[in-house]
Amino acid sequence: MKRHAVDVAIVGVGTAGMSAYTAARAHTDSIVVIESNAYGTTCARVGCMPSKLLIAAAEAAHRARAATLFGVHAESVRVDGEAVMARVRAERDRFVGFVLEAVERWPAAHRLCGPARFLDPHTLMVGDDTQVEAQRIVIATGTSPALPEGWREALGERLLVSDDVFDWTRLPESVAVAGAGAIGLELAQALARLGVRVRLFGRGGRLGPLTDPAALAAAHAAFGAEYALEPDVRIDTVARDGDAVRVRWSGQGGAHEERFACVLTATGRRPNLAGLDLARAGLPLDARGVPVHDRNTGRIGDSQVFIAGDVAQDRPLLHEAADDGRIAGDNAGRYPDIRSQRRRAALGIVFCEPQIAVAGESYRALCQRNAAFAAGEVSFADQGRSRVMAMNVGVLRVYGEHASGRFVGAEMVGPAAEHIGHLLAWAVHQDMTVDDMLACPYYHPVIEEGLRTALRELNKALMRGPDPVPRSMDCGPGA
Ligand SMILES: Cc1cc2nc3c(=O)[nH]c(=O)nc-3n(C[C@H](O)[C@H](O)[C@H](O)COP(=O)(O)OP(=O)(O)OC[C@H]3O[C@@H](n4cnc5c(N)ncnc54)[C@H](O)[C@@H]3O)c2cc1C
Repeated sequence: MKRHAVDVAIVGVGTAGMSAYTAARAHTDSIVVIESNAYGTTCARVGCMPSKLLIAAAEAAHRARAATLFGVHAESVRVDGEAVMARVRAERDRFVGFVLEAVERWPAAHRLCGPARFLDPHTLMVGDDTQVEAQRIVIATGTSPALPEGWREALGERLLVSDDVFDWTRLPESVAVAGAGAIGLELAQALARLGVRVRLFGRGGRLGPLTDPAALAAAHAAFGAEYALEPDVRIDTVARDGDAVRVRWSGQGGAHEERFACVLTATGRRPNLAGLDLARAGLPLDARGVPVHDRNTGRIGDSQVFIAGDVAQDRPLLHEAADDGRIAGDNAGRYPDIRSQRRRAALGIVFCEPQIAVAGESYRALCQRNAAFAAGEVSFADQGRSRVMAMNVGVLRVYGEHASGRFVGAEMVGPAAEHIGHLLAWAVHQDMTVDDMLACPYYHPVIEEGLRTALRELNKALMRGPDPVPRSMDCGPGA
């Protein structure tokens, strides 16, 4: 048995684990990271980056087909699936390479390979032959795709998860995508735009992170117009049918059946906790089995164990995982002098088209805490710049607090939501009032003029501003 005694052990070398390592190492050189799989992170290998590469190819095809509207003819668009996937894999490997370079710069003595599990609150077993005794431990083990019960047995290798997509060497003829969260929405549309026959199955009408009924209605209309979307159905059975699969589902329109080359399940991700033997660590767990922790310190209960990244199940997003890692790693390194860190305003983006963004508090969160708030809205149907670019689809809903006039959040499905979402999250983070936001400059003609229209509506609803002038011409047409 090999034995190591260290100040800090970090389990999982993803985004959170890597930033935890850097932060903890500012305090101590007595440190190990433990990784059970290949280095490279979920983000670079099977997450943010390869999904955006696939979407970029899909957008190129879509733009070419849509050019006719402008009098530009590129009707004979041909998608070469092998070339599409070759670029996705090559660029993905490049991004993974950057991560590998970073990890390989760390001293070899700081890196252990193998699955880690707890033997007691201060001891980890790594594989079969290594024990690590650590004063403090950071759990940064990420998440894995959750499979609906029985589907693997029913479909075998015809059941895919998002990880599988990015290793494809060619595109399938058809895919049933189960799950209309961010990953399902992004992949379904990208594949449809690349010529794959797609049907996307959701539950309860939910689409990505949207909760505002007006934004959801706009999203249903936009995506339903482009590909086969079943936002509120139950998949009754999935079964092998020769070298394909047969999916049966039912909803308001009755029962249906369709044959696909494969099923891609995007029905959520579960925290990688099962193999850690948490019971031996004596950590407090919530009803989901996730360690009870403080988001501002990363600390689990009053233990010397910290948690960071998607495994913590707070905000499973890249920038949050990096922040979590920094906070948990810093505190594991500096223990017992723990520091509480302010967190950033919430921001979630889905890279479908129209894009989705939720910034600050969502509509549902405001309703759940009985907030006294008002909403403003703009439709992009006639918004000048959006219309110029033929991206005039969707709606932006902005929320402000009655007592203070503070801007508290927004939900958007519409053009450039990845950028507007940032402005909105920054405004929440800076505690800006709606007045403050309206006092900022707005160029012409830009999509942000639509944001200004929504904010004027909101200020009126908060009884802090005048009736907005319909089709205001103060900055040109189509504001
Ligand atoms: C398809 C897809 C698209 C995404 N797109 C976006 C996006 O556009 N924007 C965004 O912000 N986020 C996106 N995300 C989410 C983002 O990728 C994650 O938030 C982020 O990668 C989480 O990092 P992490 O460090 O928590 O986990 P990971 O990077 O998964 O790292 C966890 C590591 O722990 C290791 N591990 C697990 N168990 C053990 C064990 N017992 N012992 C040792 N090691 C272990 C794993 O092998 C893994 O390497 C996407 C995710 C997916 C799947």
